[in-house]
Amino acid sequence: MKNICVVGGGIAGLFAARVLAEKNYQVKVLEGAAEPGGLLRSFHGPHGQDFDYGTHVMRETGHSEVDALMFSHLSDEWRSFEILKTGSVAGGQLYKHSAFTNGNSLSPEDRTKVESEFLNCTPVKKELDSAKDYVYQSYGPTYSEKLFLPALAKFYGVPTEELHKNALRQFGMTRMVGFTSEKTHELKKDSWGDERLAFHSFEEGSAGLNNFYPRTGGIGRFITELRADLESRGVEVLCNQKIESVQVKDGKVSSLQVGGQSFDLDHLVWTLPVPFLHKMAGQSSPAKELKFRDVGLFYFTFEEPLTTDLYYIMNFDPDLHSFRITFYQNLKANNEKHFSCCVEVLGSGADIEKLSSSEVLEELKGLGLVKSEVLPVEEQKMTFPKGFPIMTKDFAKSSREGYDEAMKLYSNVSLVGRSAGKVFFTNDVLIDTYELLNSL
Ligand SMILES: Cc1cc2nc3c(=O)[nH]c(=O)nc-3n(C[C@H](O)[C@H](O)[C@H](O)COP(=O)(O)OP(=O)(O)OC[C@H]3O[C@@H](n4cnc5c(N)ncnc54)[C@H](O)[C@@H]3O)c2cc1C
Repeated sequence: MKNICVVGGGIAGLFAARVLAEKNYQVKVLEGAAEPGGLLRSFHGPHGQDFDYGTHVMRETGHSEVDALMFSHLSDEWRSFEILKTGSVAGGQLYKHSAFTNGNSLSPEDRTKVESEFLNCTPVKKELDSAKDYVYQSYGPTYSEKLFLPALAKFYGVPTEELHKNALRQFGMTRMVGFTSEKTHELKKDSWGDERLAFHSFEEGSAGLNNFYPRTGGIGRFITELRADLESRGVEVLCNQKIESVQVKDGKVSSLQVGGQSFDLDHLVWTLPVPFLHKMAGQSSPAKELKFRDVGLFYFTFEEPLTTDLYYIMNFDPDLHSFRITFYQNLKANNEKHFSCCVEVLGSGADIEKLSSSEVLEELKGLGLVKSEVLPVEEQKMTFPKGFPIMTKDFAKSSREGYDEAMKLYSNVSLVGRSAGKVFFTNDVLIDTYELLNSL
């Protein structure tokens, strides 16, 4: 039987193990931390709160094989809902009906300009890789300069001309809310209009996919249940196993060394950064170090509910610090006595260090999400280093080169997960992992 080691016990590594277990391979997952889960972990507060580190909501992918493997083990603790109630902030205004950028937050004069420029745009060539060129050619100068480019500069902290087109997708900046709802319906009948325009409400255009969040335990419950499912199928999930070196013989990885122990293998699934694999194998790598944004996580708990029924809000306003605000009270819908939210901020480690919880709280109050006189009963601040890749054109090229080089050097390695540099979102990671490993 093929002996497979999976390095990294985040969702990519655990799902890889799930795909391989289905094929009856002998699978070991080696996780460096004390618990598996990576960015899908949660921690718990003294008032029964559950706080997540990265991804908050699990969503069906629409790929039937992936969804069957991913979601069939879920316990009764999970709520499922088709509609994600989301909002967005632009121009200091909270739009309570969609997470897409809201062009209707602009002044009446700018809206008139945006609408006529939008209608004059012709379809963009597929090969175009610059985010800036893409938004100019798709939406025209007014929308680009007033909304998209300032938001991109806030999220990535680099000149927008350096960014790759994929930089837009990472923050859902793939469509805009504009025109009237009726006009939007009319324009969306055409594929070029549909590609760029969002419906005015999350109630419309649902893809019919379920979202999941548990009543207790936070998103980390997904990992706890997946781990139990894997172990019942004979997969070993070994924690506190930080890789120290990788042995290569005749173009194949033959074993891994961890804490004085050696793990022999027929095939390696690697979910950590590709340059790290080269380093562990003692190879020099052409791939440049990739650049990332650090993530500041500010968690607040109150004794009265936050004044919204949304699940999360995307914040495109460059004058505000947060980029996403998630409301656990609405995701859990569990009638608890305490009400929590998580505010995510992107920046350098130094920017995040400087930003105080009280400044972030003022932002929540300014958006009308917390009443002005209300104080939190608990607040926590954390920094998650290197959370978001800075999607420059250089990043896309270096990721591709590092990946291709690894494929040439090691014939029995599969590179999956966000660190492989091909994909970032959980569902993209899952589909990519399945497609790669199902044919093994
Ligand atoms: C703040 C934030 C918010 C996000 N929100 C969303 C979202 O809303 N929706 C979405 O789809 N995606 C989101 N993402 C992306 C999502 O988290 C990733 O797609 C997903 O976590 C990828 O899983 P992974 O297993 O590739 O990586 P990770 O989750 O990073 O897991 C990597 C694992 O490898 C382990 N490891 C590290 N070094 C070693 C070592 N030397 N030896 C052994 N193990 C090691 C780590 O401990 C970790 O468990 C978010 C990311 C961040 C940073």
